[in-house]
Amino acid sequence: MTNRPILDKEIKADIFSGMSGNPVVPVQLRPEDTFCFSCHKGVPCWNACCHGADITLTPLDILRLSEGFGIRPREFLAKYTVPAMWEAADLPVAKIKMGGDDGKGPCPFMTGDGCSVYAHRPATCRYYPLGLASVKMKGAETRDDFHFLVKETHCQGHASTKEMTVAEYCAEQGLTGHEAVDRGWIDIIMKMASWQGVGGPMGQGVTSQTKKMFFMVSTDVDGLRSFVFTTKFLETYDIAPEDIEALKTDDEGMLRLGLDWMKNVLFNEKTLAMKEAVLRASIAKIREETGAS
Ligand code: SF4
Ligand code: SF4
Repeated sequence: MTNRPILDKEIKADIFSGMSGNPVVPVQLRPEDTFCFSCHKGVPCWNACCHGADITLTPLDILRLSEGFGIRPREFLAKYTVPAMWEAADLPVAKIKMGGDDGKGPCPFMTGDGCSVYAHRPATCRYYPLGLASVKMKGAETRDDFHFLVKETHCQGHASTKEMTVAEYCAEQGLTGHEAVDRGWIDIIMKMASWQGVGGPMGQGVTSQTKKMFFMVSTDVDGLRSFVFTTKFLETYDIAPEDIEALKTDDEGMLRLGLDWMKNVLFNEKTLAMKEAVLRASIAKIREETGAS
């Protein structure tokens, strides 16, 4: 993922952009802002953007695409993706494996008629030619999300006079639900990016084991489920019995739990509560080690 200058003196991360090359400096857009764009099979650049594209897959993208193929995420991952580092956050992610030795070839899902996985296409492809970025001004408490227009020289869609607002375009592309479910994953990436200047969360580096866990949570819901049900996880965290039962089959629920757990591990957020007995034992151990009464 390439980060580009949008604003000065802020901590930022581009979440979706999917550019294949030749970018111009993006323009910041709000939901009510308008832009002109149209993509259809008649454009001379048809499918150009599906070559060498930089498509990072969100956890929900992976679930949806796997379901579309009737396979589990682990198999989808092995067949169609490559691991990569999201450098701004120093976290591992999965990207679609583009064709060609140099990765500049076609997306494996591209056909002459367009995208063969259109109904399940990744969020980055839905956004294009918009990108989504998140910024947190230094010293600010909250983060600000905004869209930007990606204008690549090969894309003729910008020559259209069809005008729409950013909000209308996102609704047309079915993006509202995607953003809500993947919010936890985006939050983690943003927070990690914001901590990079001081070496990691609370000034502490993140271990390679924790990064591996983040990758598993983000990409392999069955691996996560096995971890939750075969380790001391359920003895440690306070999860309602009916929720535990649902987690046996609910992939999105399992994903939410995994991302909440990662927020707890990485940033000490109270997204998961420890069981009372575990908490008491933990406090007693700390007291014993420090000699506190
Ligand atoms: S998933 Fe579909 S829209 Fe996205 S790059 Fe591949 S072919 Fe293009
Ligand atoms: S108009 Fe842009 S988005 Fe549409 S096919 Fe051409 S390069 Fe891709």
